[in-house]
Amino acid sequence: MLDMLKNVVSNLTHKPVTRKYPFEKREPFEKARGHIKNDIDKCILCGICQRVCPSNCIQVNRKEGTWAFQPFECIICGVCVESCPTKSLTMAKEYRPISNEKYEIVQKKEVQNPPNKDKKEGA
Ligand code: SF4
Ligand code: SF4
Repeated sequence: MLDMLKNVVSNLTHKPVTRKYPFEKREPFEKARGHIKNDIDKCILCGICQRVCPSNCIQVNRKEGTWAFQPFECIICGVCVESCPTKSLTMAKEYRPISNEKYEIVQKKEVQNPPNKDKKEGA
């Protein structure tokens, strides 16, 4: 009985432990893994992230200049971020925003100086 009374008094005199989400959001922890982001301007489409990804959720197509990502397949391990040579991939602390793109987000980039574009045969 005394224990219950202590709890009642404590609950009446303290603020609630819950937050009024989404009006009051919790700041993410310093090293939280929310979702990966690609700064496509820095990306050289080398394909390393695709090769190291254990979920096989990144597809790089140098020919078409695309970097495609399936966010719902990603296990947020961070291996691609650690392996990216240009640091174009980063880990954002915030959770990934909701999306209508259920399976794939594709980012496109112009391929600069495609090999042998202007080179003539036998030149
Ligand atoms: S490892 Fe980095 S630079 Fe290479 S394709 Fe992936 S995101 Fe682009
Ligand atoms: S965080 Fe892990 S699972 Fe997600 S894309 Fe990168 S390597 Fe793949």
